[in-house]
Amino acid sequence: MDTQMLIGSAFEAGTETEEAILNPRTGETILNIPEASQSQIEKAVAAAEKAFATWSRTTPAQRSGYLRKIADRIEAEAAGFAALEALNCGKPINAALNDEIPAIVDCWRFFAGAVRSMPGQVAGEYLPGHTSMIRRDPVGIVASIAPWNYPLMMMAWKLAPAIAGGNTVVYKPSEQTPLTALKLARILAEVRPEGVVNVVLGRGESVGNALINHPKVNMISITGDVATGKKILQAAAKSVKRTHLELGGKAPVIVFDDADLDAVVNGLRAFGYYNAGQDCTAACRIYAGDKVYEKLVADLSSVVSSIRYNRSDDTENEMGPLISKRQRDRVASFVERAAELNHIEITTGGRPGEGGGFYYQPTVVAGALQADEIVRREVFGPVVSVTRFSDVDEAVAWANDSDYGLASSVWTKDVSRAMATAARLQYGCTWINTHFMLTNEMPHGGLKQSGYGKDMSLYALEDYTAVRHVMVAHG
Ligand code: NAD
Repeated sequence: MDTQMLIGSAFEAGTETEEAILNPRTGETILNIPEASQSQIEKAVAAAEKAFATWSRTTPAQRSGYLRKIADRIEAEAAGFAALEALNCGKPINAALNDEIPAIVDCWRFFAGAVRSMPGQVAGEYLPGHTSMIRRDPVGIVASIAPWNYPLMMMAWKLAPAIAGGNTVVYKPSEQTPLTALKLARILAEVRPEGVVNVVLGRGESVGNALINHPKVNMISITGDVATGKKILQAAAKSVKRTHLELGGKAPVIVFDDADLDAVVNGLRAFGYYNAGQDCTAACRIYAGDKVYEKLVADLSSVVSSIRYNRSDDTENEMGPLISKRQRDRVASFVERAAELNHIEITTGGRPGEGGGFYYQPTVVAGALQADEIVRREVFGPVVSVTRFSDVDEAVAWANDSDYGLASSVWTKDVSRAMATAARLQYGCTWINTHFMLTNEMPHGGLKQSGYGKDMSLYALEDYTAVRHVMVAHG
């Protein structure tokens, strides 16, 4: 197992506090890994700065070649990456291998192609006797900071557009889930020019904080909690750094009375509990029309109780544990507080799973009201609330009545109602008659406190490049 950080072309162990890396399935320690020192962070930033001078002047075709090599290597070592992700995050092996790795490989390949065909405004004579043109140039050194829920995927979403755009990066994975980042660092060291990507390890308050406050860092890209995003903005304000923020979510799901209820129930079973609900787009806040509410709660509770987890043969599992005891206890406390309310009924689940791991039962919280904590706050666990609504205005108002604005969905057979409702939702994404589906050609990102900045798609390349105007006066 790889444990060393990548700084320039060298692999080094951190020299500071050790972090215990846990197996969430058992709660046991896999190994301890020390975090980076201040001088190691300085060396990583210096390596990125040195590499920028040449990397920023490579052609799109050259950068594309590196990205394709990285994609090919991840694909060739898919089984190894998936096994590490399953070990460190508790993901079912089939989810890691068959869902995540292909999407990760495709992300690298998408940006390998996209950087060669960036669109833009035409050059021309917008003032007589002067020719103007638009350039898109790299921003500089990017400090890139990732969460624990999809470690290798977040690495692809952040690194691929950043280095495709000609930037260099110092990357910090979550202190809880560094293992796939360290494996990819070995590949990066073989494939990319020295210093283009550096990987340092450590906690947010030490290593993360040093990176976001570093004077040589030009841009901070973070996926994480809203509270962390606010700290990033405070740090960025000091030296006016560019920021790319992907923060939390609390996705509303509006189910109209005419929806295909079987599709809704099966969709919620899949999209509310994937990755044990530790997903910022999870279908977790259901608004059901008066006429379908009772049947939806009954059918959903029935199918959710059949979700397979904590089986000794991992290939049978559909859901894994939560990432940590802390996260499991946090989820449990949300459900306990909800269950104390007279109007709420826990129709399935509602308890930690058995054994030493950090499991929580897939749970349905019925009868929730708009003001309830379980409807308003991000639980980030396998817990879905269901709230009854009486008309479309109420459903849209409640859906939009949230600090978050990342993802949402609308379920109806009436295409006009679907389009009219989607147009009124204040979310970065609205799915119609589905949820959760992402594709590398389309942007992912939020509104309100879910942050801003787009991952995937040409919009991410725009975020990681600066628009410049060059004007030539004719002689
Ligand atoms: P977190 O905010 O605790 O940590 C995310 C990263 O930020 C970690 O690498 C952490 O070490 C670092 N960090 C923490 N404090 C820092 C500081 N002061 N300075 C610099 N870095 C710091 O989030 P988490 O618990 O790892 O992840 C879960 C959160 O991420 C959830 O809120 C979830 O919704 C969000 N998330 C959002 C998206 C999205 O696309 N919008 C995707 C995945 C996860």
